[in-house]
Amino acid sequence: MTLPELWTHKPQKILAFKAGDRIEDIDTNSSPGFDGDKDDAPELQRDRNERFAELQEMLYANGRRGDHRSVLLVLQGMDTAGKGGIVEHVVGAGNPMGIQYKSFGVPTPEELQHHYLWRIRKALPTGGQVGVFDRSHYEDVLVVRVHNLVAPDVWGARYDEINAFEKELTEAGTSIVKVAMFVSLEEQKQRLSDRLEDPEKHWKYNPGDLDERALWPQYREAYQAMLDKTSTDHAPWYVVPADKKWYSRLAVTELLIETLKSLQLSWPPADFDVKAEKKRLATA
Ligand code: AMP
Ligand code: MG
Repeated sequence: MTLPELWTHKPQKILAFKAGDRIEDIDTNSSPGFDGDKDDAPELQRDRNERFAELQEMLYANGRRGDHRSVLLVLQGMDTAGKGGIVEHVVGAGNPMGIQYKSFGVPTPEELQHHYLWRIRKALPTGGQVGVFDRSHYEDVLVVRVHNLVAPDVWGARYDEINAFEKELTEAGTSIVKVAMFVSLEEQKQRLSDRLEDPEKHWKYNPGDLDERALWPQYREAYQAMLDKTSTDHAPWYVVPADKKWYSRLAVTELLIETLKSLQLSWPPADFDVKAEKKRLATA
């Protein structure tokens, strides 16, 4: 059995959010569709990272030739869910020339003066790029909803607006991969504790994380509404159990690979006479 065959079900099928799915039913410690265990992960991850890197570079190469298509990975999840780990261990395997990373934090005063999609539009991947949003426009229906940062009719109107926005993006050639990562409260506590114990991880810790943690029931509601209202045919959500980091990373790698494969890329052909150039080089 080759390593990729450890997947008994395609992550794209098994992790896709389906109407009626409930967040409270997610087994955050599970590894849906995967028949291996932690010991299988390192070798498989290396193998799949290579495949991702090859396809990503191919997308970049085509972009250099004017292909307008791009991929946008949207990462959402509570603190410690592992968004940073996906960026480092999955996307990080790619060629940085073709990766466009952007994290979205508390809006700056300038950003607040604009529509919430203003900063998002500015960060969209251009042709040939794999864009990564570490948090995204979805914060505007998550943290904003939980903390009443705008009136309910304002955030309430955003779900339809986001769907229309993403439709526009996909029609313009951006394949959107939306990943919602879920850890249990216990696992989050452990990870926050690890961050406090290790001076090398203090930079990842924010005292405010504990305040958000206390609001988990409200966040759960907001995440449920997000999944219910914005999982569309053109931009479905994938729900990724994330207590096992090795699993969430493998799963997101497969989601990216499948998306890149669906673009049916090939290496752009030479736009010069290869034979003639070889001849010229021989005597150069
Ligand atoms: P981190 O991802 O750990 O760097 O944290 C970024 C913080 O910025 C999180 O607490 C987010 O909830 C917050 N944030 C991101 N987008 C928004 C937004 N549109 N409005 C308010 N807070 C936001
Ligand atoms: Mg954080």
